[in-house]
Amino acid sequence: MTRTSILETKDLVGQEVMLCGWVHNRRDHGKLIFIDLRDRSGIAQVVFVPSGADYEMASRLRAEWVVRLKGVVKARPEKMFNDEIPTGRVEIEPIELEILNRAETPPFPIDTDGYDIGEESRMSYRFVDLRRQRMANNLAVRHAAALFIRNWLSEKGFLEVETPILTKSTPEGARDFVVPSRLYPGAFYALPQSPQQYKQLLMAGGVEKYFQLARCFRDEDTRGDRQPEFTQLDMEMSFVEREDVMQLNEQLLIEMVKTIYPQKRIQEIPFPRISYKEAMEKYQTDRPDVRKDKNDLNLLAFCWVVDFPFFEKNDEGKYTFTHNPFSAPKPEFMEDLMTKKNIGDILTTQYDVVLNGWEIGGGSIRNHQSEALGKVFEIMGFEEGRIANNFGHMLTAFKNGTPPHGGIAWGFDRLVALLNNEPNIREVMAFPKTGDARDLMMSSPSELEEKQLKELHLKISK
Ligand code: ASP
Repeated sequence: MTRTSILETKDLVGQEVMLCGWVHNRRDHGKLIFIDLRDRSGIAQVVFVPSGADYEMASRLRAEWVVRLKGVVKARPEKMFNDEIPTGRVEIEPIELEILNRAETPPFPIDTDGYDIGEESRMSYRFVDLRRQRMANNLAVRHAAALFIRNWLSEKGFLEVETPILTKSTPEGARDFVVPSRLYPGAFYALPQSPQQYKQLLMAGGVEKYFQLARCFRDEDTRGDRQPEFTQLDMEMSFVEREDVMQLNEQLLIEMVKTIYPQKRIQEIPFPRISYKEAMEKYQTDRPDVRKDKNDLNLLAFCWVVDFPFFEKNDEGKYTFTHNPFSAPKPEFMEDLMTKKNIGDILTTQYDVVLNGWEIGGGSIRNHQSEALGKVFEIMGFEEGRIANNFGHMLTAFKNGTPPHGGIAWGFDRLVALLNNEPNIREVMAFPKTGDARDLMMSSPSELEEKQLKELHLKISK
């Protein structure tokens, strides 16, 4: 007999089915034992009577035990309807019960939304926490959004290309996670802060339209709702201008919302565009919350922020990039970049997309000529040796037929969290780290054995 999913039983009155799942709860009513049986699709009520099959075994069932049950789907009498669940008009009369695994008393309830349960506990027992309906739904919706994006971009001619995880330090503004090399003592790989350089090199490689649901790693201080690793929808296109990238992304966002989140309303289409200057003057932030009604859970106020300054001065009074060193200036500022004049006034092609006050994406048209990229590094005061060492491959690629290109990356976790009305990105990741960057389930980070340290040529100074 093949397994039937629990949700399907609502349409199978009179039929014999085999269900597999977890004991959601057991209620003893006089002589009757009611078991709510749960699988990923839903919950069904099973009623054991003293004269019926496996009554004694049913009396021993506890929450979260795993069982297989053969039974017949029966219509409930009308006064027993429970229209709060899709299977509330049927119940299962057992034929044969089999216990597949027992479970310790669950560390916390899973039939609630779980917001009130301490994070330590939820994260240590994430495999139990994921069974709650809210979490199961979050994973399913995240999957649906990712699948929609993949299909949509694929139809538009984009290729999903994987880029390396073991890579080299890139200057993207955050600290790198590094991996010691066993084969090259004293040398390190870095985990990518984003696939920025690889995606540009894919443009040099003639890929023309690239995307990737890419894992990014940033060793930042644990501040606010950050994770050491997170997922970007990363994208790059050749022979495009700012307008092309913005329009394509706007269209994708709109169609994704309409398909995956039909209950949501987008406040304004096309998305309003605000200059950085105007945003700072009017909202005192470069990620303005332009919602007209902040109480409406289903209102999505997207906007674009454009015309950011390219450079700003850091604490040491030196120029550094505001967003991305690989961005091109707006065309009318190219001459100033090339002649290194009016540096503070140069505007970049950077565009950020903001949703309800959260930056959910950002990108730019890139400098594809090596002279222009070189000027950016010169303005930032990088020595020739450092430029060659860190960016030689980019400059070389740009001297070998790299087309004009530009792209963007979305913070995919953040976007899904916002669309699912979740308060933080941990709620839409299967196995996030805690707010202080630990994996409590695996107990990571953890120390290495002496032998491993030795192989890696590492000494820990305490
Ligand atoms: N790599 C950039 C980032 O991670 C996004 C982009 O410019 O495409 O923010």
